[in-house]
Amino acid sequence: TVATAGLLVTGSLAACGDDTGNSGTGADKPAKIGVILPDSKSSARWEGADRKFLEEAFKAAGVEADIQNAQGDKTQFSTIADAMITSGVTALMIVNLDSGTGKAVLDKAKSQGIATIDYDRLTLGGSAEYYVSFDNVAVGKLQGEGLVKCLTDQGAKNPVVSYLNGSPTDNNATLFKSGYDSVLKPKFDANEYTKGPDDDVPDWDNAQAGTIFEQQLTKAGGKINGVLAANDGLGNAAISVLKKNKLNGKVPVTGQDATPQGLQNILAGDQCMTVYKAIKQEAQAAADLAIGLAKGEKKETGQTVKDPESGRDVPSVLLTPKAIYKDNVKDVVADGYVTKEELCTGE
Ligand code: BGC
Repeated sequence: TVATAGLLVTGSLAACGDDTGNSGTGADKPAKIGVILPDSKSSARWEGADRKFLEEAFKAAGVEADIQNAQGDKTQFSTIADAMITSGVTALMIVNLDSGTGKAVLDKAKSQGIATIDYDRLTLGGSAEYYVSFDNVAVGKLQGEGLVKCLTDQGAKNPVVSYLNGSPTDNNATLFKSGYDSVLKPKFDANEYTKGPDDDVPDWDNAQAGTIFEQQLTKAGGKINGVLAANDGLGNAAISVLKKNKLNGKVPVTGQDATPQGLQNILAGDQCMTVYKAIKQEAQAAADLAIGLAKGEKKETGQTVKDPESGRDVPSVLLTPKAIYKDNVKDVVADGYVTKEELCTGE
């Protein structure tokens, strides 16, 4: 079909195999991996680091890959998945937009004998063979500890802290929050800190985050002394509002993803910290597992995560995140994640 042909610009061999019905058994069919990224505006990471490092990993292994982006559209997400299934992918890797639509895609692939991987976000109630991510509760803890460190450095007394949480449909957002709550809630309970407004940002939408933060600031009568923002995009939205109110630099804001913009905000003194996740390792781990699955291998990860919805123990790879402050931004550059140029000239 035209739709299939359009997707197969890099995949004529697999297409011929499918069309002629001579593709053989799962194990001897050449590997072809489909990857569906979620969007390009909730974080710069997806079309930046993730695409780049996934492409590099598949290329180095000599394996064909089709990496697409659903652009935040759930219908588009399943349309892409259907086309990938039809095109004969041997394994499918997804970053779900929510667990319900993610599960439908995973189940469909499974019913066609295609192995699946949850990349970065666990699909609750899902059927993926593997989950590859970071220790996301640890990510949240680093954010909570980072905010405490920056408030302490400023000598803040009983600061009002507001929350800009991630998307309520992203299981990671729940894990991040449980991490930062484990650090901040004891402070609220001890009346050391005051809990300010606490809002989820639908779809991690950066533009909405700005509006939400404006409302938070109004609601708090302008008195917000620290912002726990769940990623750099949300943090930047808060910083833009703080700038308008001449409060940037006075109110520490957290982040995540070590994006060029987040790192620039840190260097400018407007952002307290970010959390660096070595996406190269995440992409490499997921690519290795996907390639193994395509060969019919089931590699041991040595670790599982319990899906809270189904109770299933999902074989997992969970990498370790790292906190980045002004004094160690250079570590992110040294790791090859961003270049000096990106930091000095903008994105
Ligand atoms: C990822 C974060 C990202 C956020 C928004 C989360 O699931 O773990 O790295 O910032 O989604 O895309």
